[in-house]
Amino acid sequence: MITFDNVSKKYSNDHVAVKALNVEIKKGEFFVIIGPSGCGKTTLLKMINRLIPLTEGTIWINGKKISDYNIHELRWSIGYVLQQIALFPHMTIEENIAIVPELKKWSKTKIQKRVEELLELVGLEPEKYRQRKPKELSGGEQQRVGVIRALAADPEIILMDEPFSALDPISRTKLQDDLLEMQRTIQKTIVFVSHDMQEALKLGDRLCVMKDGEIVQIGAPQEIVQNPVNDFVQQFIGINAVNNRFDIQAIMQPIVTTSELRDTIFVNEPLTNILQKFTQHNVLGVEEDGKIIGMVTRATILQYLAEDFKERGHAHD
Ligand code: ADP
Repeated sequence: MITFDNVSKKYSNDHVAVKALNVEIKKGEFFVIIGPSGCGKTTLLKMINRLIPLTEGTIWINGKKISDYNIHELRWSIGYVLQQIALFPHMTIEENIAIVPELKKWSKTKIQKRVEELLELVGLEPEKYRQRKPKELSGGEQQRVGVIRALAADPEIILMDEPFSALDPISRTKLQDDLLEMQRTIQKTIVFVSHDMQEALKLGDRLCVMKDGEIVQIGAPQEIVQNPVNDFVQQFIGINAVNNRFDIQAIMQPIVTTSELRDTIFVNEPLTNILQKFTQHNVLGVEEDGKIIGMVTRATILQYLAEDFKERGHAHD
């Protein structure tokens, strides 16, 4: 668990980038920090592994102040993925992945096994890729290696700073899907910075919306979409526009079994009501003229919202 207790960051030019921030990031959760450019996302992220020193307050990791950790111990136990992965160009893919395990003095056999396991995890055949140099890989493949390099020594926490934003849309979608799939198995605490609402909705267990160095709202994706705390969040997610276009029948699925359906929504129910009900249920029946005509899952709704943002190019810079 990562706890921010009244944390502020003032840069040397007196700019306060993060203001008295309090937040708890739970173990194993996918926590997405989202907000317009310059709102303090990267500063917040980099304070966790002490790449940026904080000015006031305390950050705790598993009950221990980050300032009490040995800096190497801290950095090695936190994976870090940047927008432009800086793989070392003269080293092979295997050597690049092995950096932290080597520093931690793992045995050769253990390292080799780990490299294989990780390459397989992201669909890069070990025999084909381990001896290649970074320039012999596509941008998407390099970014995959960047992600598994951060996982190499099995850190409990992974920090990701817009890791997919430099990729083309197809690779980006693929890597997002892979990361979600991977997270199902590895269950790490992931702190992920994004300025793209579509990405945030798709990936996050919880989203933390920031503005001018402050947290405006924290909640599950459906809570934020359903109940934005103010005009800023409302505009940022563009909920009104979605509501007007929303048609449940376009995403409804045939009913597999009625035993799962604990609640229903009406065919013309506003999106905000639907999201409210999804805070309690994973699947809802769709009712028309007293009959259940289909069902909708929470995952489908979130996917719909994510697609909608994508279509409108609703990214904020
Ligand atoms: P974001 O990641 O949301 O784009 P940042 O955390 O990078 O925001 O920056 C937050 C604010 O702090 C911005 O106004 C930025 O200009 C400022 N800032 C970032 N780094 C420095 C620095 N080293 N010195 C002074 N100001 C900085």
